[in-house]
Amino acid sequence: MSDYLHESFLPPPRLLMGPGPINCDPRVLRAMSYQLVGQFDPAMTRCMTETMALYRGVFKTKNPWTFIVDSTARGGIEAAMVSLLNPGDKVVVPVFGRFGLLLKEIAERCGALVHTLDLEWGQVAQPEQIEAAIHRFNPKLVALVQGDTSTTMCQPLADIGPMCFDMGVLTYCDATASLGGNDFRTDEWKISAVTAGLQKCLSGPSGSAPITLSSQAVDEINKRRHVEAGIKAAHHTEATGSRISSNYFDLAMIMDYWGEERLNHHTEATSMLYGARECARILLEEGVDNTVARHKQNGDALAAGLRAMGLTLYGEQSQRMNNVVGVYIPEQVNGDRVRQQMLEDFGIEIGTSFGPLHGVIWRIGTMGYNARRSAVLQTLASLEQCLLLNGLKLPAGAAVRQALSVYQ
Ligand SMILES: *Cc1c(COP(=O)(O)O)cnc(C)c1O
Repeated sequence: MSDYLHESFLPPPRLLMGPGPINCDPRVLRAMSYQLVGQFDPAMTRCMTETMALYRGVFKTKNPWTFIVDSTARGGIEAAMVSLLNPGDKVVVPVFGRFGLLLKEIAERCGALVHTLDLEWGQVAQPEQIEAAIHRFNPKLVALVQGDTSTTMCQPLADIGPMCFDMGVLTYCDATASLGGNDFRTDEWKISAVTAGLQKCLSGPSGSAPITLSSQAVDEINKRRHVEAGIKAAHHTEATGSRISSNYFDLAMIMDYWGEERLNHHTEATSMLYGARECARILLEEGVDNTVARHKQNGDALAAGLRAMGLTLYGEQSQRMNNVVGVYIPEQVNGDRVRQQMLEDFGIEIGTSFGPLHGVIWRIGTMGYNARRSAVLQTLASLEQCLLLNGLKLPAGAAVRQALSVYQ
C-alpha cells in the first residue's frame, strides 16, 4: 500500500480512448490551476459573462440564457428536467440506448408521465415516429439524446427539432457525448433546452455542465418561480405549477445567479469555470465546424484501421457518432483480458459496454484532445499487438497503414 499520508496521488500516464472521460487538453489543466477570485469580484463576474458568450458559439445559439450548471453532465440533465417538468406533465422519450433510459428515469423521478418510444439498441428515432407519439400522447416535452455513447449512434435532429417546435412541443437534448464532435445547431434545429459536459469532445474534465435555454424554455421555467416572502421575486409574479423540487438544480435560481442580479445561490465552482471557459476557447479558436471535421476524420481513420484488422464494426456506420466506434469483440478472445493488456502494457484505455452489448462490443473513442492522429495510430498498433498475443490471426501492420491512408 502506498504511504497515502506522505505521498500525493500521482496518476499513471494513460491514453484514454474509451467513450469518456478523455485526456484533458493541457491548456484546460493550466487554466484550472489559476488562483481563485471572490464570488462577486468584477473579474469573476466578467469571467462568467464571457463564458456565457463563448458557449453561445459552442451551441450555435443566440440564446441569452446560455451558462454552466456546476455538476457533471448528469446534473445538467437533472436541472433541465426538474426545472421544466411539473409532476403529471407528459414526456416522450425515444430509448435506443443507456442514456435514453437515463432520461426516462430522471423524468419519472420528476413525477412526469413518461411515454417511451422503445427502439432496438443501435437504432435512432425517425421523425414520423416522434410525430406519431406526439399525436398519441400530446406531451409537453420530447427528450432525446443526440449521441448515445452506449450504442455509438447519433440521433439526427434537423427535422425533429423544427417539427416539435411547430407542434408546440418543447424539446430537450442531452448532447453531452456529441457536442463539439458532431454537428449541433441549437437555433437552426429549434431545440428548447440542451445540456452537455466537458469530458467528451470538449477536451476537459467532468464536473461542468454547459446549458442553453430557448425563450420558450425560459418562459416555462419562469412560470414556476415561487414567490417567497423576503426574497425578491424579480419581475415574474405569476407562479404556476408546483414548486421546483430541487434547490441546487433550480434553473430559475441559477439564472438569477448568472444574470444581472447576481443573486447568491451556490459558491461558483471557480476552477471548473476556468476550465469550461478554456474548453470553449479551444473549440472556437479551431472553429466548431473544423473541430467536428477533425472528429470525423479521426473516427473514420480508427474505423478503417479496425476493419483492416478484420474486425466487424457495430451498427449502421452512416449514423454513427464521429467520436466513438463500436467494434465486435472477436469470439476467439476474452474481451476483458484484451482491455486489461491494453491498459497494463500500453497504458491505453478502451471501453467496455453495457446492457445487451456487454461483452459483445468494445467502444473506442476519439474525442476532444484525443481526436488526433498519434492517439489513433497508437491505439490501433497496440490493439493489433494484443489481439496477436491472444492468438487472433490478422494481417499484421494493415490497421495502421489503412488508418494512415485516411489521413492522406
Ligand atoms: C457521458 C455521458 C453522460 C455522462 O454524464 P456525467 O454525469 O458527466 O458522467 C451523459 N449523457 C451522455 C449521452 C453521455 O455520453
